[in-house]
Amino acid sequence: MTAVISPVSGAQIADVPATSVEETDAVIQRAHEAFPAWRAVSPGDRARLLRRFSQVVDDHIEELAQLEVTNSGHTIGNARWEAGNVRDVLAYYAGAPERLFGRQIPVPGGVDMTFHEPIGVVGIIVPWNFPMPIAGWGFAPALAAGCTVVLKPAEVTPLTAIRLGELALQAGIPEGVFTVIPGKGSVVGERFVTHPLVCKVVFTGSTEVGERIMAGCAPQIKRVTLELGGKSANVVFADADLERAAATAPYGVFDNAGQDCCARSRILVERSVFDRFMALLEPAVAGVRVEEPSLDTAEMGPLITAAHRETVASYVDDAQVAFRGSCPDGPGFWFPPTVIVPTSESDRAYREEIFGPVVAVMPFEDEADAIRMANDSDFGLSGSIWSRDIGRALRVSRGVESGNLSVNSHSSVRYWTPFGGFKRSGLGRELGPDAPEAFTETKNVFIATD
Ligand code: NAD
Repeated sequence: MTAVISPVSGAQIADVPATSVEETDAVIQRAHEAFPAWRAVSPGDRARLLRRFSQVVDDHIEELAQLEVTNSGHTIGNARWEAGNVRDVLAYYAGAPERLFGRQIPVPGGVDMTFHEPIGVVGIIVPWNFPMPIAGWGFAPALAAGCTVVLKPAEVTPLTAIRLGELALQAGIPEGVFTVIPGKGSVVGERFVTHPLVCKVVFTGSTEVGERIMAGCAPQIKRVTLELGGKSANVVFADADLERAAATAPYGVFDNAGQDCCARSRILVERSVFDRFMALLEPAVAGVRVEEPSLDTAEMGPLITAAHRETVASYVDDAQVAFRGSCPDGPGFWFPPTVIVPTSESDRAYREEIFGPVVAVMPFEDEADAIRMANDSDFGLSGSIWSRDIGRALRVSRGVESGNLSVNSHSSVRYWTPFGGFKRSGLGRELGPDAPEAFTETKNVFIATD
């Protein structure tokens, strides 16, 4: 068994089985056996089952949200949004089984048709930072495409995923079609990679583990989606609405205590307005409410573990702190929102993903310099551009090597638009209308008519 600790109290809240390799193999075998019947379910019936699953999730939003507050320290507002996101993603992809269109391609001497064939068992590996949405972004389109799913939550945050597995059965999703198995990455996760009956691995997590997963999938030419780390830039030009850019910047990086792959953890500000921007940012950071996450007013909760807090703190120990917000004392893995001013673009805190509430602010000279600095990173997941010159905002958006950008806004993730990274932030796209196709192989069939 694995003890589950609440980051809010530091106390143990549950014991969860640590699934063995043999047990993992048995679950994969059952998912493999469930596949032929699931892919044969008519599109309308599969759609109905997914809509029912969405409805059952909706009936349990509050329970799921409370569980996430306790297990992950998410604010209750965020946790309700996250449970609602699973509901919405299921409802959205419930439209997919009836819309998995092939094409008819003109060829001489006959017709050519394409089909999207579901690939089989999909193994989904989820990180601890968004246990519910990231699970849903994988399992909803996979189930819609006709695949069966085995899903491993992160060791430290398994409770909501386990509950979603139960709710799927309650909604009438057949046994073996969607199974949640808690356990270690090095045991259950590795087995998804090596087991020949798992046809695709959907991995969200660190770039280091993503590299291993990709290499591990290679011998079987196994399909893989990688959603990895980030160090995204929030680029603020002098002509921007500086008040709005500064007021929203904390929420673009400190949401979920900065444990967000899309966190805009570098703020790049045009030099001529750097001091003015910092003067506006300071009260905005001081105003972030870091408190007991079950309070409706909470905007930020604790970090996930004591060990992670130490890692985050190590970045601040060697940095020049401009100003900080506040956080509670006492039990729980609290860390205040922190703004640092790196002395060089090679500073560790400027280059590495900290995955905590720490943001580095640096000046840039002009548009070309802004693009250069934004791209001077191994990662390319997200980012924002603030400017009243929309032509420039679009030019910079096209110049930044990143998968998800927002202009004059601090957020860019919606389930009906594609999501994924450039460079070492990942491989492949999730979400958006085409996501179910990524759980199929495209087959073309020529029919002679002559
Ligand atoms: P992690 O890589 O340590 O773990 C992620 C998952 O992989 C966990 O379930 C873990 O048990 C499993 N795992 C670990 N070793 C494994 C192995 N050898 N084989 C198979 N599975 C293994 O990441 P984390 O600390 O849980 O999450 C934080 C990271 O995730 C950050 O880098 C963050 O940027 C990234 N992330 C990316 C996205 C995205 O969409 N791009 C979203 C959320 C988080």
